[in-house]
This record gives sequence, C-alpha cells and structure tokens, in this order.
Amino acid sequence: MSWRFALLIDPLAADVSLPGYGHTFEVVDPSAPALSVGELSTQRGDGIFESIGVINGHAQEVDAHLERLEHSARLCDLPAPHLAQWREAIEVTAAVCPEGECVIKLILSRGIEHGPTPTAWVTAAEAPNNAPVRVNGVRAVTLDRGLDSGASERAPWLLLGAKTLSYAVNMAALREAKRQGADDAIFVSSDGIVLEGPTSSVILRFGDRFITPQPGAGILHGTTQMSVFEHLTARGHEATYETITAAELEEADAAWLVSSVRLAAPVSALNAKKLVMDAEFTASINEYLLSPRD
Ligand code: PLP
Repeated sequence: MSWRFALLIDPLAADVSLPGYGHTFEVVDPSAPALSVGELSTQRGDGIFESIGVINGHAQEVDAHLERLEHSARLCDLPAPHLAQWREAIEVTAAVCPEGECVIKLILSRGIEHGPTPTAWVTAAEAPNNAPVRVNGVRAVTLDRGLDSGASERAPWLLLGAKTLSYAVNMAALREAKRQGADDAIFVSSDGIVLEGPTSSVILRFGDRFITPQPGAGILHGTTQMSVFEHLTARGHEATYETITAAELEEADAAWLVSSVRLAAPVSALNAKKLVMDAEFTASINEYLLSPRD
C-alpha cells in the first residue's frame, strides 16, 4: 500500500491549559478501522473538510484553508474549529510527509449519532501524479447545476458555499462529463451563470483580463484561485471577480480549472470548441503554485 498517515484529534479538548495541542492528537494506524459505525459523516455526509497541497513537506496556504474550514463550520452549525489546534495538527502531519507532492485532508464531522460529538481527524497521503494534466490540460463540458443563481441566498440550507463531505453530486457530475467524452465539468446555474468545477475553481482569460465567478454565487471561494489572482495582480495583470454567463464563457481566450492538489489544469476544449493553451504561461502559474506559499 502507498504511504498514508492519520491523526484523530479531539476538537473539544482544545482549550485545556497545557502548552501546545499535541495531547489532543492520537496517531492511528491508517489502514485499521478508526471510526464508529454511528459516524454521521459516513451515514449522512454531515461534516466538512479541506484538502491541502503539501510540497516537499510544506503545507500550502494553511491560513486560507483554515479560514474556509471556519466558514464552512459556521454555515453548517458545527462548533467553531479551534484554529491553533488544527494548525498544529497540520504541522505535525506535514512534518512526516515524504518529499514530493502530498495531500493533507482535514475532516470535521457532526460526530457520532447520540454523541459524542463532534469528531475530527487529519489524514495525509501521496498525491497522484498531476504533472501530465498540468501540461496536457482537460476537456471540459458545461453541466447544469439545476439551481438558479439566487438559490444560495434564498435557501442557505443547501450549504452551497460550504465545503461539505456530501460530494456524491460532484462525483456524479464528473462521471457525466466522462460519459460526454470530456475529463471535467463546469457547473452553470439554471439561469445561465458560470459557477465552478465539481472539484475546482474556474479562471478565464479575455484578452489581458483574468476573470473568475463571484464567490457569493453559491460556490466555494477557492484558495488556489485566490493565490493565482494575488500572483497575477502582483505581476501587473488585471484579475477580477465578475458574473460570467454561459454565452460569455464560450468567448474566453483561455481557461483553467484550479485546485489545491491538481493546481492549474488548462482547459484544452470547452464543449465542442477547442481552446488555445498557452503552455509557457500555464507552466509559470504552476511553477508559482509549486513554490512554498503561506
Ligand atoms: N470548488 C469546489 C467545488 C471544490 O471542490 C474545490 C476544491 O476541491 C475548489 C472549488 C477549489 O478549491 P481549492 O483551490 O481551495 O482547492
């Protein structure tokens, strides 16, 4: 079996007055059973998570991931994560990651039916080899998410801006994309607004301008997209949040699907249309994303 690591953490023991939080972690055998059959994360997908890229032992953008974990917990009425405790758990985990690319997952679950609640754990594993897809790109198709762009505001219980464990719909969308002969999908609202990929944020280039959909529109605010925008802005490019229609998407000069572990995958084709991939520019973005980022 490939390398894995797992840490159970006690999210409610975080404020005891011992120095550090090491006493609230328990390293467990990653190949042995560790969760109760009463876990609501497995029964109902009732919990939240984060996936953090690790490059040569350095966990990327930890603050941005912790901020989003906190945001997701708020949307899901979960106890607020004790950020210093999670940060230390990430440090401990990153320190044992082998050289190369790994992925750390943080999971905060509603807990066990009838208590105790909540439960939390951290895992680490080697990342798949994403080097080819960063060069060869992905063929993407647009898929209707079946909800209009006002749904997240009108129905907050849909938890559209939270990174919940309920990813069955996202995985089904990827299978549908494959059925349509593509590699990935871009969700569009039922009123024709571009949203996000099932596991990524969308960045588009129109001429010299880089655009991504507004995070308020029921999508996750991607840590990778934020980092890429910071990088582009520092290099004098215009990078903005805008509402993009499906018709405008077809007019983009270039597009990328970006996420914490795969990083920037250029879109080689969108629906029936081939897109030009700027190999040099994409390589420079991935070089930046592979450098240590805090
Ligand atoms: N949107 C969705 C639905 C995702 O699942 C992800 C990542 O998994 C993203 C966007 C990109 O987020 P990040 O860049 O923080 O990985």
